[in-house]
Formats: sequence, structure tokens, C-alpha cells
Amino acid sequence: MTLVLCALIAVNLMYKLPVSSSELLYVLDSYLTEFAARVMKAGPNFVILDRTAFYPKSGGQPSDTGKITYLGGEALVRKVMKRGRDVYHYLDGDIPVGTEVHGIIDWGQRHWNMRRHSGEHLLTGLFEKRGSGLKVYSDLERLDFKPSELEKETVQQVKAEFNAIVGEDLPLHIYYTSREHLDVKDDSRKLDFLEKIPLNVDLLRMVDISGHARTFCFGTHVNNTGEIGGLSDLRLSNAKKGRKIVHFFL
Ligand SMILES: [Zn+2]
Repeated sequence: MTLVLCALIAVNLMYKLPVSSSELLYVLDSYLTEFAARVMKAGPNFVILDRTAFYPKSGGQPSDTGKITYLGGEALVRKVMKRGRDVYHYLDGDIPVGTEVHGIIDWGQRHWNMRRHSGEHLLTGLFEKRGSGLKVYSDLERLDFKPSELEKETVQQVKAEFNAIVGEDLPLHIYYTSREHLDVKDDSRKLDFLEKIPLNVDLLRMVDISGHARTFCFGTHVNNTGEIGGLSDLRLSNAKKGRKIVHFFL
């Protein structure tokens, strides 16, 4: 009985990660494009749902867009933001509390974001292995590193390695680990992320690209490196105070 209870609590924790008033369907399945839900809270041009597959803007990944349909109407989802425990869906109209709705993600945009975000993870891992120094910022088109000896020659080597890994079509593994087993050493950026995750969330979601890159992340990712696609361009530029910026384009 105790074992069953523990298993149920563990599953519930995974469904709720990170702490949220909504069931976060995108955490379980990045490929879910449509879902049924109910409006829990509503206001002028926004709703909060009991469950959602819409990804809210965070971690350098932009929010999803799409639409919400219901009996007798529909509304465009223009932006999705997490505020505290709630995921706000900003709409071009109002939907009353209690309405049963159907959410539809703009899959073209989401998949493009997933590909670039997964590519961002892979590039980070490859650069860190080549002594790029710590990353201080990244989004879907660039990585910023602390001052280091990173040179154009290394960038071209990383580009070739990245494209070879894409060609191998290797799997991305998602698993959960406890906070105490996480080793972020002196990576201040990761420490900042960790601090933003409430302490009662002990299970962190890890993304491992077949040993080439590994980090904790609650974003959306593709299943295999082949889906990321090859790099069309990878460029190095120097920023203020010796920082190195790498621009990447799929
Ligand atoms: Zn991620």
C-alpha cells in the first residue's frame, strides 16, 4: 500500500513539474499538438486552464501561439506566460470560467522552436567540452560565453562535429534526478536557474543528448538529433570585456 502511495506521489510530482496550478502536458509530451481542458480562471483577454500543452516563455524558448476553441466560439492564443504558479494564455477575446475548451498549438512554430532549442543544448555541450568556458546567456540563435581562448578554428570544428551528430540521428534521453545528485560546480547561470525552482521540487528534469550534452531543463525538445537538422552557419564574434558570442543558424 505504501509503495503504491509513493508511486502515485512520484507520478503526480512528474506531472506537476515544475510547480504549477495546471497540469503541464508539454513536460510529458513535446509532440502533443491538441488537448482538452477546462477554464479555471479568466479575466480580460486571458484564461488559466486546468491542463495545458501551450509552452510558456522561459529558458530562452519563446512561448507557443495557437488557438482555443469551444462550443460557440474560438480565440487566438497570442502569448503564454508563467506568472507564479499560473500559466496565463493571452487571447484576443474572453472565455468564461468553467468552459470546456480544446487547445490547438501552432505546430510549425513550436517544432521550429524545439529544433533550435535542442540544437542550443547540443552546441553548449560541444563548446563546453572544448573549453569554451561557462555560458552566460543563450537563446535560439546565439550562445554567450565568458572570456576565453575560443577561436574561429574551434568554432568550425564544433560545426563539423554538430553536423556529424545530426547525421548519426542519436536519441535525446529525458530522465529525472534529485537536486542533491546534480553537479553544477561553479556554473553561476545554472545555479541561478536552480534557485528559481522551488525547493519542494526535488526531481529535476534532465536532457541528455547521447553523452554529448546534458543539463536540467523543463523546455520542449525533439526526440532525435536528426530532427534538429544541420547547421547552415556558425559564427564567432567578440563582445565587450572579452566575452565570446557564437551565432548559430539551422
Ligand atoms: Zn531544454
